[in-house]
Amino acid sequence: MQKTPPLFSTKDRTTRISKSINQEYDLAIIGGGVTGAGIALDASLRGMRALLVEKGDFGSGTSSKSTKLIHGGLRYLKQLELGLVRESGLERAIAHENICHLVHPESMILPIAEGGTFGKFTAGLAISVYDRLAKVEEDLRRRSLKKEEMIELEPLFKEELIKSGILYSEYRTDDARLTLEIIKAAHRNGSTCFNHLEVTGFQYSNNKINGIHCHDHITKESLKFRTKKVISAAGPWVDKISLLDKESSDSNLHLTKGIHIIFNKDKFPLNNSVYFDAFDGRLLFAIPRADVVYVGTTDTTYDTDLDDVRCSEEDVNYIIKAVKNFFNLPELTAKDITSTWAGLRPLIKQKGKGPTEISRKDEVFFSDSGLVTIAGGKLTGYRKMAERVIDTINEKSKNKFKGCCTEDYKIHHNSFSDYASYLNCITKYEKQFPEQRREVSRLVTTYGKDAFIILSAAGTMDDLIRAELDYCLEHESIYHPLDFLNRRTGWLYFDIASVKKHAATVIEYLANYLSRDEKWIEKITQEVQEQIDIHSLQFLHAASV
Ligand code: FAD
Repeated sequence: MQKTPPLFSTKDRTTRISKSINQEYDLAIIGGGVTGAGIALDASLRGMRALLVEKGDFGSGTSSKSTKLIHGGLRYLKQLELGLVRESGLERAIAHENICHLVHPESMILPIAEGGTFGKFTAGLAISVYDRLAKVEEDLRRRSLKKEEMIELEPLFKEELIKSGILYSEYRTDDARLTLEIIKAAHRNGSTCFNHLEVTGFQYSNNKINGIHCHDHITKESLKFRTKKVISAAGPWVDKISLLDKESSDSNLHLTKGIHIIFNKDKFPLNNSVYFDAFDGRLLFAIPRADVVYVGTTDTTYDTDLDDVRCSEEDVNYIIKAVKNFFNLPELTAKDITSTWAGLRPLIKQKGKGPTEISRKDEVFFSDSGLVTIAGGKLTGYRKMAERVIDTINEKSKNKFKGCCTEDYKIHHNSFSDYASYLNCITKYEKQFPEQRREVSRLVTTYGKDAFIILSAAGTMDDLIRAELDYCLEHESIYHPLDFLNRRTGWLYFDIASVKKHAATVIEYLANYLSRDEKWIEKITQEVQEQIDIHSLQFLHAASV
């Protein structure tokens, strides 16, 4: 039986803001990426009154720009970070259990290649250590593959490079949707969460922070909220938040950029996810998803505009060179790229270490004014990061809250009991809506069982987009067309043709719902077009005409 999802509606925002400014919160969280989302959920389940503010859309920072894997952390084995491998492995099992439609197993091929990172023995040993440390379930454990099996599985491999291979298990996710579902779960449990609300400063009493100043990007108002504690979970922006606090201006971060590029499957017909050697000792992922394949990533120090991170020609050339080095794709060029994304890793500075050597561990910092900053870490470890930081705050505060209870908490309110029931649900709805099989599969993959709410509201195919928009307006707090066209649907990266096809409808529908005028429509249409151009690398395509 379908439960009606609790509202998290676009229209409620004004009422929710009016209520919030009259409250005193136990905790304010800056940043609605996966770290902030995890903290809000952990805090609310312990009974804290928590406020989360995000300057863009939920997940619009690094948390929509990752490789979208819930890692066991094979690469950390190379750096002998055994604790991190163990924790990542356990966390991904917990995430799969708690939201299986967004975190599910993905077979990954690790080719043993001529001159590659791993030899047959080292790869086998590394993966069996990894299977044990990460407590990988028996049926998902590694399997060795002979050269012939490798070529049969993946005829695109360059035969002369491949010696053998290993099939092992990773978990895939949709980072932006995972972040959003955690935010929705926090909201359901009493947290107050706002997107498009930016922290611009702090309020103090006796040199201790007791409030935050915000700018509302929707109404253009300035707002103040009272709070006992503030956690900065602003990812790549944490140093900027520290600068707003008079007591803490230290720089803690080393930012590195990572990009991904996307091809249609007809240009890169890959059957399986592959973790392959680039030509310079690094390893890249190539991952099929619906009708496309995405490839990444890079890892280069970044020190320019945090709010405008783009994929450069150099980044593209690097990835294409690596792909062509490993796969038989002589015709593949930058012109075949349909979309891209670029994000920043908020890594903790480590003297004398280059981008790829810096540990992915998280750390917590305290300022004399009481600002708590959490940085570093991975998508995979978000739950444990939240537990650690709230435990620390709990230990230091007079009012004690109960212990962490996110381990067994089902993140999606209509959650599947297990992965098999999720797969059954796709089949069931496909039978129910035979004309719309592709869309059904996308909707269930995206919204879980809530897909049925959208499907049953849509009388005809033409109405499907409106039904999906209605769902997002009622339950997912969208304000900008890109909230929908990028973070809610994933179209900007994985199906840019749908963005082009539906952008005008989405803009018009939102304008109507939010009572916006023609000027707004014109401005927003331009913004959407700009993002299409940036992501689809118009600068490169235009140059090659
Ligand atoms: P963010 O997601 O950046 O969130 C911080 C938020 O703070 C932003 O949304 C920002 O808008 C907001 N903010 C900033 N300033 C303010 C302000 N003044 N007021 C209000 N809000 C503000 N991890 C994995 O586990 N698996 C992977 O496959 C993986 N792949 C990766 C690939 C790449 C290329 C990169 C870059 C990272 C990858 N990671 C991966 C790491 C992972 O994505 C990050 O560790 C994680 O997303 C960081 O989340 P966060 O919430 O700390 O930061």
